Amino acid sequence: ELDGPFFRRWLAAAAAAVDREADRLTELDSAIGDADHGANLRRGFAAVTDVLEKEEPAVPGAVLMLAGRQLISTVGGASGPLYGTLLRRTGKDFGDAETVTRQRLAEALAAGVAAVAQLGGAQAGDKTMLDALLPAVDGLGESFAAARDAAAEGALATVPLQARKGRASYLGERSIGHEDPGAASSALLIAALAETAE
Ligand code: ADP
Ligand code: MG
Ligand code: MG
Repeated sequence: ELDGPFFRRWLAAAAAAVDREADRLTELDSAIGDADHGANLRRGFAAVTDVLEKEEPAVPGAVLMLAGRQLISTVGGASGPLYGTLLRRTGKDFGDAETVTRQRLAEALAAGVAAVAQLGGAQAGDKTMLDALLPAVDGLGESFAAARDAAAEGALATVPLQARKGRASYLGERSIGHEDPGAASSALLIAALAETAE
């Protein structure tokens, strides 16, 4: 069973991963965007870590909703509202449950990912974070490791795609041949989840 402290540990691990990989994320975004994805997420997840340490929300839903709010208010750029919505909607789905199972997390995350798709108007194959998040949700029904592997594969599978949403879509065919930065960061977040669950 996954409790509030588990979700705080996940987000701390995610912040550490984003910090470690910020240069790579920014490099990916410099190829097909505006070279700020690493900096955006580093700032956002540092703020998430701070607010979680200060407020210590007790239950999973409260942890994720607070983190999502913080991302929305600190990340300028498309990824802030999108990741913020992901966490807020996932957290809302938990209500005030003290603990949740992996299966419940998979269901709630599916609702969160659907909210991201609705907000951004994107779908599978548009070369966005959804191309890592959608397979991750499917994998999570099986295991944390399957979710991690599916997200990583989904991110790599964005390389040959042409972007249809976000800044990268302005490049048209020139967006082909590069990994989507948001898909890469989503794979990091899911890897941090699997690492926390081990
Ligand atoms: P910005 O493009 O505003 O500078 P970031 O660089 O932080 O924001 O984030 C870019 C990432 O956001 C993209 O790589 C993509 O994965 C994701 N993204 C952008 N627009 C959308 C959208 N409409 N739907 C889903 N994801 C999107
Ligand atoms: Mg950018
Ligand atoms: Mg930007």
